[in-house]
Amino acid sequence: MTSGYVFDIQNCSMHDGPGLRTTVFFKGCPLRCLWCANPESQLQRPQVMFYADKCVGCGECVKVCESGAITSGKGCIGCGNCVKACIHNARKMVGKLMTSEEVLQEIRKDKLIYDRSGGGVTLSGGEVLMQPDFAIEILEACQKEKIHTVLDTTAFCRPEIFEQVARHIDLAYVDMKSIDNDLHKKYTAVDNTWILHNFQYLDANKIPFAVRMPIIPGYNDSDTMIWETIEFLKKLKSDFIVCLLPFHAYGKSKYEKIGMQWPMGNLPNLDRKNLEPMKEKFERAGLKVMIQ
Ligand code: SF4
Ligand code: SF4
Repeated sequence: MTSGYVFDIQNCSMHDGPGLRTTVFFKGCPLRCLWCANPESQLQRPQVMFYADKCVGCGECVKVCESGAITSGKGCIGCGNCVKACIHNARKMVGKLMTSEEVLQEIRKDKLIYDRSGGGVTLSGGEVLMQPDFAIEILEACQKEKIHTVLDTTAFCRPEIFEQVARHIDLAYVDMKSIDNDLHKKYTAVDNTWILHNFQYLDANKIPFAVRMPIIPGYNDSDTMIWETIEFLKKLKSDFIVCLLPFHAYGKSKYEKIGMQWPMGNLPNLDRKNLEPMKEKFERAGLKVMIQ
C-alpha cells in the first residue's frame, strides 16, 4: 500500500466534476504559477500556517520549536510541536501523510451520495501527478468499486506517467495556462511541451476531458495567445468544453500565513462579463466554451 501527502479532503463538492463529489487535494506541485490560489499546496511536505489575528504573543510555540524556525523564519521541519502548544489556534498544520486506504475510507463514506447525484471522486491539488503511484492505487480501487473518477491536473509530467494515471480516470480537467512556451515558463516556472503532448494523448485515446483556462489580465489574455490556443484546440477531435476561469485574488491572504509574498500585487479580480468577448472568439471558432 502506498502513502501520499494530502492537504485537504472536501465532501459534497459541487464544482469539481459531475454530481456531488469528494475532492482529494494532493500536496506538492512542480509549477509555481504567479497567480496560484493555493500556495499551501506547492510544497509536498506538511507546513504550518500562522494566523496572526489569533496570536496573543504568549510565546509557548517558541519554547517547543527545537529548530528555532519560529524565531529565525526558516528551517521548519514540520514537527507540529508548535501547533499542539498553541491553545489559541493561531497555528495550523497543512498537509499530512495518508495511506491510499485511509483516503479510500473517506471516499467510500459518500458512496450513496455519488450514486444518487451522479457524482464520484476528484483528485486535485497541488498536482496529483507528482504522486502517481498513490493516485493510481486510489483510482484503481474507485474503478473497481464503480466510483466515477475525475483528475484535475496541470498535466505537467512525463508522458509515460501521465498515460499510466490516465488509464484509470473517467474524465480529466486539464489546465491550459499559456500556449506560448516562453510565457508559460515565465509565469509557471515550467515548460509546456509535456502538457500539450498529454492533451493530445487524451484526445487520441478518447479519454473525456475539459480544458480549464485561468485568464490573467495582462499575462495570458492577448489576442495572439487566444488565437494560438484556439488553433491548437481546433486540431483536437474530441468533444470537449473550454472553461474560462476569471482571475481572482482570493488566495492572497494565505500567502502571508505561510511566510510568502503574493506575487500579483494589486491586480483586481476579473469580472466574468469582461470575458464575454473572449468567449465569443472561441464560439466563432466552433469550440464549446463557458465562463466559470
Ligand atoms: S503559542 Fe500561539 S498564541 Fe502563543 S505566541 Fe505562539 S502562535 Fe501566538
Ligand atoms: S512545525 Fe512548528 S515547532 Fe516544528 S519546526 Fe516548524 S515551526 Fe518549529
